[in-house]
This record gives sequence, structure tokens and C-alpha cells, in this order.
Amino acid sequence: MSLDEFGLIERIARRAGVRGDVALGIGDDAALLQMPAGQQLVVTADTLNAGVHFPAETPPADIGWKALAVNLSDLAAMGAQPAWCTLSLSLPEASPAWVDGFAEGFFQLADLHGIALVGGDTTRGPLSISITAMGHVPAGKALRRDGAQVGDDVWVTGVPGEAGVALALWQQGLLDVSRPTDEEALEHLRQRLARPTPRSAAGLALHGLASAAIDVSDGLLADLGHICQRSQVAAEILESALPASVQAAAVDQSALFRRIRATTGDDYELCFTAPAALRGQVSESMACVAVPATRIGYIRAGSQVRLVDGEGGASVVPRLGFNHFD
Ligand code: ADP
Ligand code: MG
Repeated sequence: MSLDEFGLIERIARRAGVRGDVALGIGDDAALLQMPAGQQLVVTADTLNAGVHFPAETPPADIGWKALAVNLSDLAAMGAQPAWCTLSLSLPEASPAWVDGFAEGFFQLADLHGIALVGGDTTRGPLSISITAMGHVPAGKALRRDGAQVGDDVWVTGVPGEAGVALALWQQGLLDVSRPTDEEALEHLRQRLARPTPRSAAGLALHGLASAAIDVSDGLLADLGHICQRSQVAAEILESALPASVQAAAVDQSALFRRIRATTGDDYELCFTAPAALRGQVSESMACVAVPATRIGYIRAGSQVRLVDGEGGASVVPRLGFNHFD
């Protein structure tokens, strides 16, 4: 069975969540949204293209999850409360099974974060998913890239590098991304790539603590480099302080993990800076939202990110990570 554009829209629209601040949702020419008083609107957009951002054989539910996750991650990095989103779908064919699978993953994550789908667009073309996510933050309280200060600690949530290990294993034919596997450690790594966890609660908990924040989409050093550039400071990361991966070790990929963890992307963890005097409070607030966070280095005067190895030697990292037009 194949459907027309409106049949497809209906299959998605009937799953859309409700929020009291959506005065008018899907079905009109545009949505009407009620902003809470004293808050700033936070808006971000990200596109996922088949074959570029995910392997073609990725299950539709994983695509739905990830397309929203990368946008929620940007809101998290701003310290924003997620509220609304739009979804522009370009599909090669009107497959109800694909759309239902996509909606399953998409709304699973949307419901977890209380974000409502309020509109979008549906067209025929190569598989591409474009989402605009909106949230809000108390005026003046957003976590920006330009606030890092000399002497601040550098922190990271979770275990950056695990998504990269999964991607490498897939590229070597050692991991099937199209279905879950029984092997626990391998499945953990597959999930880090297919279903990243947006750190919304951590972003909200960092109000008044973090001086700058970014989400790690292109690689830890590259993304921290953006904070440094915008804040006009340098950073030193201690190789020995970077979080270890139990699961990479369990599948005998510790060496690969250590080699790529600072430069590989797709983890959607938060990297943030905070004054050293707030160390205890940062630890407490991350424990409160049950998000693992590790102190991995310092902000210094200068303009570059250095990865310092265990022997005290340092390597300067100019520009690493993923760039679509390299
Ligand atoms: P228009 O011609 O005004 O652009 P459409 O026919 O494209 O309207 O869409 C009809 C309604 O369905 C609109 O409210 C639009 O926001 C919504 N919509 C279309 N595609 C999607 C989608 N993929 N997800 C959510 N809402 C959608
Ligand atoms: Mg339209």
C-alpha cells in the first residue's frame, strides 16, 4: 500500500503529543505557540541525509530517534527546556511501514523530553530529515560558547568515542547496524551510535554553573576548539583523565577507542567549562540528574586545544573532527 502526502502527514500527526502552550498545532498554515513570560526562545535546526549521516540500512525507528536527538542535543547545549519542533521529511516513496517505524522512534524520544511536534512539510525526494527544534531559557541564562574563562575546568558528560567505535566496527563489517545484537557490549556501542542520549537534564542543571557549553557532534577536541575560539582562550585536555569505555574493552577495542575518542564525533555528549570554585556543585548537580560527568582539563590563556599525554608531552590540535566540505 502506498499513501498520498496527506495520508502520510495523518500517520505522523495522530502521534503528535499535546502541550498546553500549543495554541494551534498541525493542520493549519502555521502553528501558534505561547511563549512563557520572561523566557527567550531558543531555535535550532539539523538535517540528516541518508548515506551521509546514517548508513542506508539503519532501521527507520533509529533514524526517527536520532534525527530528533541531534536537535535536542543542541537545545541541551544551550541549557534550554525543549518545547516544540517541526519535521520536514523528504521520502523516496510513500511507505506507511517506513513512516510508522520512523514515528515510533521519533515519538519515543519526543515523549521522554516533552517536546511537541507542531508542524512540518512532506515531499518526495532522496531520504532526508530536517528538524527545527524550539525551546526556552530564562532571559540571559543560556549556556553559550563564548563564556569560558582562564582557570575554568573543562568537563564532559558520558563516554565520548563510543559512537565512533560503533561506526568503525560497522565500516569493517563487524557490526550490523540494521538490527539489535545479543552481545551486550556490542549492543551498547550500537545504541550509542543509533540512539544517542540528548543531555537535556544536564544542560538545565548547569544554569549558573557552566561558563560555556557545546554538544560533541564533530569530535571532543574540535568542538572544544569552538568554545576556545568564541571565548578567546586555550584549553589543555589530559589524555589520562578522559573517560574509559568498559564496552569497548569488552569487545577488545580499547586501543581503537583510545585512538579516536578525542576526535571522533556523533556522541552528542556535552562539553562544558565551569569555574574551579564550583567543582563540588557541578559534581553534585550532575549526580542529581544522574548524568556521569568527568573533569578532563583546564582553560588557559592562548588560542589552541592541546591534548596532553601521560608522559607530559603535548600535541597541539589545530582543526580536527568532521567537516562536510573537507
Ligand atoms: P502547506 O501547504 O500550508 O505547507 P501542508 O499541506 O504542507 O501545508 O501541511 C499541512 C499541515 O500538516 C501543516 O500544518 C503542516 O505543518 C503539517 N505537516 C506537513 N508535513 C508534516 C510532517 N512531516 N510532520 C508534521 N506536520 C506536518
Ligand atoms: Mg507544505
